[in-house]
Amino acid sequence: MGTVSGATLMARSLKQQGVDYIFGIVGFPVQGFAAVAQKEGIRYVGMRNEQAASYAAHAAGYLTGRPQGCLTVSGPGVIHAFAGLANAKQNCWPMILIGGASPVFQNGMGGFQEERQVELAAPYCKYAHAIEHVHRIPYYVNQAVRHSLFGRPGPVYLDFPDDIINGQCEEEDVTQAATVPEPPRTLADPDAVEAALNALESAERPLVVVGKGMAWSRAEDEIREFIERTQLPFLNSPMGKGTMPDNDSLSVGAARSTALRDADLVFLMGARLNWIMHYGLPPRFNENVRIVQLDISPEEIGTNVPTEVALVGDGKAVVGQLNRALDNRQWFYPAETTWRTTLREKAESNHAAVQPMIDDDSAPSNYYRAYKDIVDWLPDDAIIIGEGANTMDIGRTQMPNVHSRHRLDAGSYGTMGVGLGFAIAAAVTNPDKPIVSVQGDSAFGFTGMEIETMIRYNLPVKMIVLNNGGIGGHSGSTEPPAPGEIQPPGNLTYGARYDLMVEGLGGKGWYIEDPKDLRAALDEAMAHDGPTLINVPLNIRSGRKPQEHAWLTQ
Ligand code: ADP
Ligand code: MG
Repeated sequence: MGTVSGATLMARSLKQQGVDYIFGIVGFPVQGFAAVAQKEGIRYVGMRNEQAASYAAHAAGYLTGRPQGCLTVSGPGVIHAFAGLANAKQNCWPMILIGGASPVFQNGMGGFQEERQVELAAPYCKYAHAIEHVHRIPYYVNQAVRHSLFGRPGPVYLDFPDDIINGQCEEEDVTQAATVPEPPRTLADPDAVEAALNALESAERPLVVVGKGMAWSRAEDEIREFIERTQLPFLNSPMGKGTMPDNDSLSVGAARSTALRDADLVFLMGARLNWIMHYGLPPRFNENVRIVQLDISPEEIGTNVPTEVALVGDGKAVVGQLNRALDNRQWFYPAETTWRTTLREKAESNHAAVQPMIDDDSAPSNYYRAYKDIVDWLPDDAIIIGEGANTMDIGRTQMPNVHSRHRLDAGSYGTMGVGLGFAIAAAVTNPDKPIVSVQGDSAFGFTGMEIETMIRYNLPVKMIVLNNGGIGGHSGSTEPPAPGEIQPPGNLTYGARYDLMVEGLGGKGWYIEDPKDLRAALDEAMAHDGPTLINVPLNIRSGRKPQEHAWLTQ
């Protein structure tokens, strides 16, 4: 039979387990491995910063439904990629980090970039292990992928030492491993299914909250059927957006605060009562709110607010159960209720409150005016990446999603700097879809050099930077500071020409000082076959619509 190298065995095992993409940076000791992976049919994307590569890997995992890879050099390379592990863990998304490591026989000697990588990775991971024998590589890859994918998804780590990468073993000695199937779709207790429907029937002001756990479980068809049959008002979480279309008549997304505050029963589907949902507590929620909770993770049930009915299982399978149970009931939530009227009126008044900003053509643009043209231009099937403070928050309210898994943003961890890595992952895994990234200038800057990656691979990402010259906006004068003048800590260069950066690296850029020129630039960008960046300097006093209560902006 002959011998096989650790590098080849690793590449074959990853490919066998559905790891079709690796994002990374080569160097010691993984420089040869990336090329071997390419030979085995894995798409390798060479990036500029391990942080961005690790972000790309878990966005690709979420979008494809299998953990995808991040490859780094030893020591500092692995440490940089911990950013992605932590973000993946917080968002419950799968990924596999493969960290090069100094050779096992030098352990403890102070080798080049030697680090206790497995120990350090463990708190951010569901599974972290070193590979100690070439012939057991398929075993470890199987373990890692299974842990990443089954139950609540999350990141995993494999330490890949130099002497394993370059080691050899006899083909007949290889420990073969089974291909990890799709995750088991666990069903909820049938009594709990009936209890959940009884609870919904008894509610006066019910609300369904669709989270990104449902998007992950590919539950969109079941959820659409459930909402259509029950006629329940719903809202999508920030990345649950599109699982039910934002433009559905039953969406109460435009009255989000009122819906959360006044609902007497919330059916939480694949979403958590964490900071994004204000812990399910007053003043954001009704003090006596009843919670029906669907989650794959039993430990999540009852977090922050006791759960009245727990549906523990896979989102797609459990909503399917609910739909079948509905066959035996005539019930749906009535068309005319005070609750519906309240929500409709609140949505209308929210729209009216921002309309003057949408209509304001003065230069430089405000956020809402810029979004007006972006929304008119945005294709329905675009994967939207939103990042930044106001840029993301306002974008979430203005840019609709009609498809599930078509929005990526700072997520559960509130991570800034994920945008370009996410955009690259979206473009590589979805070559047939428009990829649109709308970022603030601060968010763009974290991994701005990844535009070189986009240009090198000709990934046609349409970037828009809403540029207010600062973290949360420029304060003071927009002129450069006088000598000796102290700069506010959050200030960035007002009017910085990120568009010229893209031009200089081989893409196309626009600088839009008057919002009346924005639409034409957007059309030209879409027509351009390659990465583009439209840089829109904003009025530095532009912000969100005034909120009713201070705690709404906390
Ligand atoms: P959001 O930010 O949209 O509110 P979170 O990330 O807070 O979403 O919550 C997602 C929840 O979905 C997590 O508690 C996770 O355990 C759960 N989840 C993950 N996979 C599934 C699945 N297949 N079925 C149901 N729930 C899932
Ligand atoms: Mg800014």
